[in-house]
Amino acid sequence: MNRQVPIAEGLFTWPAEKPALLGSRCQRCGIASFPAAGACMACSGQEVIVEELPGRGTLWTWTIQRFMPKTPYRSNETPETFKPYGVGYVELPGGVRVEGRLTESDPEKLHIGMAMEVVFAPWCTDDNGDEVISFFFRPVV
Ligand SMILES: [Zn+2]
Repeated sequence: MNRQVPIAEGLFTWPAEKPALLGSRCQRCGIASFPAAGACMACSGQEVIVEELPGRGTLWTWTIQRFMPKTPYRSNETPETFKPYGVGYVELPGGVRVEGRLTESDPEKLHIGMAMEVVFAPWCTDDNGDEVISFFFRPVV
């Protein structure tokens, strides 16, 4: 039986009943960052705690990736099977902006400021046959 493994350790809670992105919040200035870091990017404070980030935010900026990224791009795609996809920054409550792949690739359906929610889904299959889980942002309908 195939397992589901997270694309990277520490990016989000997994496995979890309600998975969430993990960010670090500075105890000095209150700024959160993603992915979690050992020091605050705003004030260099060392007192940061890792916390679950809100699952919804708004689309801050986006683009459509129309060609296959150069290595190390981790996927099962080839230049022949590659399909364009949306990628963007979503601003979460508290001011942290998270870059992620979007579930929507139609430019007509994406606009800055729209509500987005994080979802966790298979990204690709690794060499062991395990499903690699990553996070995506999906328009809230
Ligand atoms: Zn800080």
